[in-house]
Amino acid sequence: ARRTKLSVEDYERGVLAGDRTTLGRAITLIESNAPAHQEQAQQLLARLLPHTGKSKRIGITGIPGAGKSTFIEAFGTYLTGQGHEIAVLAIDPSSTLTGGSILGDKVRMEQLSRQAGAFIRPSPSGGSLGGVARKTREAILVCEAAGFDVVLVETVGVGQNEVTVRSMVDFFLVLMIAGAGDEMQGIKKGVIELADALVINKADGDNLPRCTATQAEMKRVLHYLHPPTQGWHTPALLASSLTHAGVPEVWKATEDFFNNTRGSGVLVQRRQQQTVEWMHALVMESLRARFYASPGVKAHLAAVEEAVANGRQPALAAAMELLKLG
Ligand code: GDP
Repeated sequence: ARRTKLSVEDYERGVLAGDRTTLGRAITLIESNAPAHQEQAQQLLARLLPHTGKSKRIGITGIPGAGKSTFIEAFGTYLTGQGHEIAVLAIDPSSTLTGGSILGDKVRMEQLSRQAGAFIRPSPSGGSLGGVARKTREAILVCEAAGFDVVLVETVGVGQNEVTVRSMVDFFLVLMIAGAGDEMQGIKKGVIELADALVINKADGDNLPRCTATQAEMKRVLHYLHPPTQGWHTPALLASSLTHAGVPEVWKATEDFFNNTRGSGVLVQRRQQQTVEWMHALVMESLRARFYASPGVKAHLAAVEEAVANGRQPALAAAMELLKLG
């Protein structure tokens, strides 16, 4: 059956009522690059904004194979069991760049997706990391308006993804495994410094002693790092997504974090700062797009590029010339 077209009011009513079909369609609207859809999406967001902000925004990262899907399944199922409503969004720009997805095209989190209290949305495709990030930020707001009290944003620990997710969540969780190597898990590239909690996953069976050793090592590492959230000490926890051991403790740490940062004002401050930074990022993106789309720049860009490439014009002088044309 063909879907009927929804008005902004229809979207608004459906989302606020927590209707999953309308929620899904509202996110599709946000993800669309068509100008008419984007305009409608912005109108919808403006209407929904007063109903946003009430969720715990949680980011999760980890290298491929760390157990992100399995962990989110266990964590999410635990939360829905406690009466929470959880939305899971993903940022996976690799699906755009390579046509394939690192987060996986397989039906992920099958068990969680069957829960009434859960909503799972795969990563939007099409566009740069910046584009995917914008869509995810807006999807977070729509999920909040739909009443989810936990919004989880998942990403693969490669490249800039972690920093992008960190900039849109309150609480950032890094999932690790024992023995995968510091280099690989981003200890050296500073991912640990972004973490509000480290969770060493797969702490079960024969693997438990190695996980305990990794936990002790991580505690030592954390001792020397400046925690990303003022007044909060980043814990290193053990969990098993298979046996669910440690999963309630991860939620306990999450709640402690929110109690702490709500009380101190750090949470409000973080969100305000994130929103203002996001606005500036949108301004930059829009200026850039407008500049390269202007007829003067379009007409001369190739020639100027050629002159710069062949050393006939200094880069700065060329940039200034283009800026006058833009
Ligand atoms: P992702 O790539 O980070 O999403 O990782 P997956 O969730 O797909 O997990 C990768 C593999 O690790 C799968 O074979 C899982 O069954 C396994 N795995 C995930 N969590 C655990 C765990 O807690 N314990 C054990 N033993 N295996 C796990």
